[in-house]
Amino acid sequence: MRLLFVGPPGSGKGTQAVRVAESLGIPHISTGEMFRSHVTRGTELGKTVKELMAAGEYVPDEITGKMLAERLTHPDAARGFILDGFPRTIPQAELLDDLLSETPLDRVVLLAVDEEELMARMLSRGRADDTAETIRRRLEVYESQTAPLLDLYGPRGLLERVDGSGDMNEITGRIMAALR
Ligand code: AMP
Repeated sequence: MRLLFVGPPGSGKGTQAVRVAESLGIPHISTGEMFRSHVTRGTELGKTVKELMAAGEYVPDEITGKMLAERLTHPDAARGFILDGFPRTIPQAELLDDLLSETPLDRVVLLAVDEEELMARMLSRGRADDTAETIRRRLEVYESQTAPLLDLYGPRGLLERVDGSGDMNEITGRIMAALR
């Protein structure tokens, strides 16, 4: 299965993507995690993206697209995958369409959580890019850059909107039920 998980920052899409990927036996591909790993290792790419991430801004499409395209060539991706946090912009979605031309996405899972709960969750997880000001900026960037993807995938009949509030296990159950 080729799946895409979308959701605002703090929606828990990363946590849920890991669980669902494990349960389906397919790799979890997170561009955010790949970037964080570059920052931790102090690579050239890490140095380029560190400040953008800390400010809650997106990394340019060209950089992100190149990294993701390379990741999809790894043999494990042939079995299917969960994309978590890519695409996040319309040009990235167009690139993904090109990359997957023969075997397009099967489903897009949108994790819906209201803004108050998003704020509370992010402030409690203590990640480097989770300060109040950065969180506000990340929500803004999500609304303007990423929410438009729903208008792209909705008409294709791929979208599964799942309630992402409440108990973690229940949310995983809702996603698995939506994918069945
Ligand atoms: P995430 O772990 O998915 O919340 O991503 C953390 C941060 O990495 C984001 O706030 C962006 O700065 C950057 N990032 C991750 N994925 C992308 C993407 N597809 N396009 C642009 N920036 C990204």
